[in-house]
Amino acid sequence: MGKKYVYVWNKNRVEGNSKMKDILGGKGANLAEMASLGLPVPPGFTISTEVCKYYWDNGRKFPEDLKSVVEEAMTELENVTGKKFGDNKNPLLVSVRSGAAVSMPGMMDTILNLGLNDESVEGLAKLTNNERFAWDSYRRFIQMFGDVALGIAHEKFEEALNEVKREKGVKQDLELDANDLKKVVELYKKLYKEEGKEFPQDPMKQLWIAIEAVFGSWNNPRAIKYRQINEMDKQGLLGTAVNVVAMVFGNMGEDSGTGVAFTRDPNTGEKKYYGEFLTNAQGEDVVAGIRTPKSLDELKSINPKTYNQLLEVMDKLEKHFRDMQDIEFTVEKGQLYMLQTRSGKRTAAAAVKIAVDMVKEGLISKQEAVMRVKPADIEKLLHPIFDSEELKNAQYIGKGLPASPGAATGKIVFSADDAEKLAKDGEKVILARPETSPEDVGGMNVAEGILTSRGGMTSHAAVVARGMGKTAVVGAEDIVIDLKNKVIKSNGVELKEGDWISIDGNEGKVYAGKIKTVRPEGLAGDISVLLEYADEVSVLGVRANADIPRDAKVAREFGAQGIGLCRTEHMFFGPERINKMRTMIVSKTEEQRKAALEQLLPFQRSDFKGLFEEMEGFSVTIRLLDPPLHEFVPESDEQIKEVAKMIGISEEELRSTVKDLEEFNPMMGHRGVRLAITYPEIAEMQTKAIILAAIDMIKEGKKVQPEIMIPLVGDVKELTILKESIKQIADELIKENNVDLEYKIGTMIEVPRACVVADQIGAEADFFSFGTNDLTQLGLGFSRDDYGKFIGDYIEKGIYEKDPFQQIDREGVGKLIKLALDGGRSTNPKLKVGICGEHGGDPDSIEFAHLVGLDYVSCSPYRVPVARLAAAQAAVNYKRGKKVNY
Ligand code: ADP
Ligand code: MG
Ligand code: MG
Repeated sequence: MGKKYVYVWNKNRVEGNSKMKDILGGKGANLAEMASLGLPVPPGFTISTEVCKYYWDNGRKFPEDLKSVVEEAMTELENVTGKKFGDNKNPLLVSVRSGAAVSMPGMMDTILNLGLNDESVEGLAKLTNNERFAWDSYRRFIQMFGDVALGIAHEKFEEALNEVKREKGVKQDLELDANDLKKVVELYKKLYKEEGKEFPQDPMKQLWIAIEAVFGSWNNPRAIKYRQINEMDKQGLLGTAVNVVAMVFGNMGEDSGTGVAFTRDPNTGEKKYYGEFLTNAQGEDVVAGIRTPKSLDELKSINPKTYNQLLEVMDKLEKHFRDMQDIEFTVEKGQLYMLQTRSGKRTAAAAVKIAVDMVKEGLISKQEAVMRVKPADIEKLLHPIFDSEELKNAQYIGKGLPASPGAATGKIVFSADDAEKLAKDGEKVILARPETSPEDVGGMNVAEGILTSRGGMTSHAAVVARGMGKTAVVGAEDIVIDLKNKVIKSNGVELKEGDWISIDGNEGKVYAGKIKTVRPEGLAGDISVLLEYADEVSVLGVRANADIPRDAKVAREFGAQGIGLCRTEHMFFGPERINKMRTMIVSKTEEQRKAALEQLLPFQRSDFKGLFEEMEGFSVTIRLLDPPLHEFVPESDEQIKEVAKMIGISEEELRSTVKDLEEFNPMMGHRGVRLAITYPEIAEMQTKAIILAAIDMIKEGKKVQPEIMIPLVGDVKELTILKESIKQIADELIKENNVDLEYKIGTMIEVPRACVVADQIGAEADFFSFGTNDLTQLGLGFSRDDYGKFIGDYIEKGIYEKDPFQQIDREGVGKLIKLALDGGRSTNPKLKVGICGEHGGDPDSIEFAHLVGLDYVSCSPYRVPVARLAAAQAAVNYKRGKKVNY
């Protein structure tokens, strides 16, 4: 192997440091670092992770010279401690500890007091004049060695220990004296025999068995599973390291003990010491819960000097590592020893607070602060969650996809109309449907949450719910939503209309009954400060997809810099509008259609004005009508009757129009720019409304930046035809009103052909906005509602890594985007380019957008904070345009 296997640290020399986690593991690297800092760390050495790799690559064999290297390191350890390994009078005892580069439960537990045997235990008793301590250490060692290295069940040792306690009639380990502990040792040895195992008396043998057990544990089923679940196999980990550390003793009496501490409160992030301590105890006693640990304050009253020293060390560690530290320490007769330090795990709230506080304290830069918080943490902090106490008693009935985060509770309704009716009376409702459609939007809007039994993460219900910031669980296939009988059945539970139900959009879980929700702090305080840091760091802009002023307002509050997509179709569903829309649709002549459109114009004009006002000073991209017209016409006989009457035509006539509008394949049907090619009047009316609203703004002395977006363009001629008419109308209105108004005309890029001919389209467009939902549908030939059908299988089999509708498929759709971008910019260097599909709120896709060099992403208002953070993290991690990981 020709490599260095062992790295020592002691008062004379330190070979490792905290940057060497790959080969020393996290624990070993930080022990070395602490030793370098002159902190009180017992001496020891680390056998590197490369040895672990060698061991597994070579049929569980060690490199030949490892033995001599370890023996040398043991000799060095003897020299610096003045003790001898295996000596009967003054034995060196060590702990053997595992530790990979990434902290990983599932690997081997630590073995303490290794080196003791039947003879040295007597020597230790004499030397320390503390027989109880010596036998306590010995019985602990035999137990840990048997359990951890030889696989004898932990409970069997506990049973033996309990037997001795029962006999003596005591409850606590501490009430056992040296003679009792000798009995425990006898029982433990008997247990070894019964299990067919041998307890080795030779310390060197003990050491090698322990070392081999640590390396062996790297590939035990628990560890393998853990790496799989956490997608760690790609990280190129070599294995675990083994740390051999001279023992220090917390079990020497009341002036000794062991503890764990955090430099700040890991729950709230508050800057205050936080920890637990147990006197006369060893190792994991604190966390094992055998006695109630004491707070650090009590350590202060027992031993103020040690307490003060501990605080000093904690301060030093935090300043040095520039992060909140989670430490493990032991006190031996008043003397403090540090046994571990690492960056502490923390709640989402604490992560944000600590990051912001540390910037204010001058400890870290804004850039670092931005990297300290996970996008998912931000998300957690912005949505309501269930009250944890009530959740414990809740009745779980099934699971779906966590389509839109948050927690919601309400009475079950089965139709959008019922949702609206009940909500008007002030009731909280959950709308349960097999799936939702555009007609349900009103009901979805008033519901607390949405539950569907079909559809994927980008189904109608999921997309609309996320847009509204509503909690949703979709595609809960085990839950039967029976519209006819108005019942929900699942897991033997039956819920009727009006019964309470609760859904958790973070986890996709569904519960029967009412569960209280609590809303975390909004975008105030620390989160908003952190996101301001993020904006300073990021290159990519973040806009929001918003159709109505209320959403635009939320988007601004969350820090969106403009609207990247306003879907105008949602504006036609209001009660005063839908029938005017339908009249327009069934019109037989252009005149009729124009007349109907004239009536819609004032509505649109004021809608746009509202958006412009909320977004004053920022760009607002408005997409011309996109969906196929059949989505606006009635379907049921009852509705046809009503609508025919209302718009003054016969039922037959209406029915035949509806039939004409039927789409064979809606995804590829008469929609997008194709509508405008056939019915230019619609686009003309919308253009008028946009420009007039913008003129209204200017007349009021307000700033406005309208962007008119033409959807589904596949050929440049579609754009040039539309552009000509838009320009003509707009310029005329501007001239008429004698105002100075700039507007842009651009296209949505969502047809693969458009990507290929993007150089031509770019020459004519002011901007491109990638509609990545449709680009993915058309690029892959997958429908976004196919999740439950087969996309799940694709992910399971590893064909796609993630749902391509959630995370941009970089290799395929990503290359199309790159192609379009290069094409467009080749003919129009000033082309503005963004993403406005669902991917605009996904951190991985945002990273991609940054890498390829887009100008902005646009996502639903509630995802704006997450997107701002993700955009900043992408900017910190990668120079733009440098490297695209297809
Ligand atoms: P884990 O990875 O589970 O935290 P560790 O290797 O840190 O396991 O060991 C657990 C505990 O054992 C430590 O927190 C410490 O209390 C104790 N311990 C480990 N090594 C020693 C030692 N050399 N002397 C005294 N106690 C030790
Ligand atoms: Mg530890
Ligand atoms: Mg589209």
